[in-house]
Amino acid sequence: MATTFKRPDKRKFDELREVEAKIGIIKRADGSAMFKFGDSVALAAVYGPRELIPKHKQDPEKALLRCHYDMISFSVTERKRPGPSRRSTEISYVTSKALEPVLQLDAFPNTVIDVFIMIIQADASTRCAGINAASMALANAGLPMTGLVSAVSVGKVAGEILTDLSKDEEDYGHDDKVKETTDIPIAYIPKLDKISLLQLDGRIKPQELKKAIEAAKKACLKINEIQTKALKQVND
Ligand code: ADP
Repeated sequence: MATTFKRPDKRKFDELREVEAKIGIIKRADGSAMFKFGDSVALAAVYGPRELIPKHKQDPEKALLRCHYDMISFSVTERKRPGPSRRSTEISYVTSKALEPVLQLDAFPNTVIDVFIMIIQADASTRCAGINAASMALANAGLPMTGLVSAVSVGKVAGEILTDLSKDEEDYGHDDKVKETTDIPIAYIPKLDKISLLQLDGRIKPQELKKAIEAAKKACLKINEIQTKALKQVND
């Protein structure tokens, strides 16, 4: 059946926004990167592995991966209250879990690896932009990794499965009593064929979820290529 829904920015349903990726943007960090999905821009800086202080928090078997996600106050149209929130705590936690499968944390006992993710402009999918930037920053820091983590938000808007939701799309039909959109951020590791993050805000049928996951994997393969290219450019 032909659909009447059109994306506000005229993209195809499976099309990403303009993606940009760059590494080595923060000289004092051990590794750093920028990742952009359209108007969502994330910076990531990695410090470590370095000795974890206080010592009683050290793990003699592995490094501690600490992710810190934050948005600057003017990254959104209405000024965001500065400082941590329940949302930033949750995103920091799921980001660590999304990145852990590619890191060999047991190679660096008693240490900490800090990953600071700063969203300097937000237009939805910032946790995914942050994961993409962080994954590149970890590689830029020279850490041994079994693959790069790539993330994208897929979802259901007006009955259609879309790739890389913008804020306009996330908010589609928001005035109605029933929320019409379903937002599904997914992180995928092509090298391991493993999904390391899947969150779901909204409702979706099992068949549609399958379709959304396939769309996310396809988009993540493209993102992975862009991340890899950016990493090679500086090292060439
Ligand atoms: P994600 O950015 O990963 O999609 P959310 O679904 O929580 O995470 O947020 C969706 C979008 O809502 C953000 O990308 C941003 O554009 C907007 N947003 C989030 N928090 C705020 C806030 N405190 N004030 C204004 N807009 C916000």
